[in-house]
Amino acid sequence: MKTLFEKIIAREIPATFVYEDELCVAFRDINPCAPMHLLLVPRKPLVQLSSATAEDQALLGHLMLTATKVAAQEGLGEAYRLVVNNGAAAGMSVPHLHLHLIGGRPLKWPPA
Ligand code: AMP
Repeated sequence: MKTLFEKIIAREIPATFVYEDELCVAFRDINPCAPMHLLLVPRKPLVQLSSATAEDQALLGHLMLTATKVAAQEGLGEAYRLVVNNGAAAGMSVPHLHLHLIGGRPLKWPPA
């Protein structure tokens, strides 16, 4: 069965895409927690970060570097946050690895 994000990637569910390449896509979070809240999602349906193996090393690096590219594209400058929730108890609600790219306002710390 496809995950919600696989359906979004397949354009079966609408989303506002801001970036895509052969390995990943980025689209706007439907329930943004800041003026800029994007989700960066690998096309490969890894369940979560802890599901990744050495085989995914290049993909994980690609996601991080793409996040910096999308942040620049979206005008976030040098001020933004990347969040990966791993597991339901950590707030993960969609079981398909994704990076939250959040910014557009001052961000407090700690986040939780
Ligand atoms: P997480 O809680 O880390 O699994 O993050 C899942 C994110 O997906 C949440 O921030 C949701 O607001 C977001 N989300 C859920 N459904 C959609 C959707 N149809 N389009 C865009 N974002 C979504």
